Amino acid sequence: GKVAGKHTVVFFSAAVSATMQRQARLESDLRRALARGEFRLLYQPQVELRTGALTGVEALLRWQHPELGWIAPQDFIPVAEESGLIVPLGAWILQEACRQGARWRAQRGVHPLRVAVNVSALQFGHADFVGVVLRALQTSGLPPELLTLEITESVVIGDLGAVTERIAELKRLGVRLSLDDFGTGYSSLAYLRHLPIDEVKIDKVFLPPLSAPDTSHDTTRARDAAEDRAMVQAIVSLAHALELEVVAEGVEDAAQLAFLRDTGCDGAQGYLFGPPVAAAAVPATRPPPWLP
Ligand code: C2E
Ligand code: CA
Ligand code: CA
Ligand code: CA
Repeated sequence: GKVAGKHTVVFFSAAVSATMQRQARLESDLRRALARGEFRLLYQPQVELRTGALTGVEALLRWQHPELGWIAPQDFIPVAEESGLIVPLGAWILQEACRQGARWRAQRGVHPLRVAVNVSALQFGHADFVGVVLRALQTSGLPPELLTLEITESVVIGDLGAVTERIAELKRLGVRLSLDDFGTGYSSLAYLRHLPIDEVKIDKVFLPPLSAPDTSHDTTRARDAAEDRAMVQAIVSLAHALELEVVAEGVEDAAQLAFLRDTGCDGAQGYLFGPPVAAAAVPATRPPPWLP
């Protein structure tokens, strides 16, 4: 009735205003966080499936808020984008990741690690983005081929021609480009063909746990799993036909790993190989024990 409706409205606006207050707080705190050194990058191993070698890491951002504790990137990156703060924050991320990449290169000699950095659409579209990448490479001394920029399909929301030209400019610097979260957004297979990228990352939503033996009579779940596997196989074969490398994320168990190796997927990342960790905790050069 009307009363319930009224109460619902009151409750709803209170919730909305709490959310807006939190947003406003996060935004003003974000402004100070960079200067106060509250951000950190963690690095998650990426493995070459053919050999089991550790070939790279993905840099993942963390914010330690002085009162709220660790805040997940999903909770503050949208705020950083709306406020434009993603531009200086993104420049810091690139500097920091390249500096660490150059350190690993000095330590590891012939077995350097590639470093993958997530780039938000707003950051990618900023007028000076190519300059920011160039300066991060120059000041760190990281060879450009060891830097991978992970972009999502959301960068293409604007002008496809302009985006293609920007990617081509970045390719001329010598960096690698990866299309992240593939298949989850406003996907167009045409992007794979027309964007001058090097790699596709299959999002973890296509990789549900496979280890539990499927003895259940839950036919819906069995069919969903079969469809997910078909998606992964289709993405891998399409990417290979277009001479792109494929990396699967969210690999958590041995059955998923076996499936990906059978599929011919090139690389993998996930808790099976290791969670995101501080730079000092990234495993050493030797091929780790997870593959025969
Ligand atoms: P993403 O790029 O898809 O990154 C993969 C996410 O999956 C990470 O979450 C990672 O910790 C998590 N993950 C890794 N292995 C597994 C696994 O085996 N199972 C499961 N369930 N999850 C796994 P995280 O670190 O919370 O980052 C979330 C998202 O925030 C990222 O998704 C990315 O879109 C964004 N992000 C993170 N760091 C940055 C950054 O430096 N810049 C920008 N623009 N975005 C970032
Ligand atoms: Ca990513
Ligand atoms: Ca993802
Ligand atoms: Ca992503």
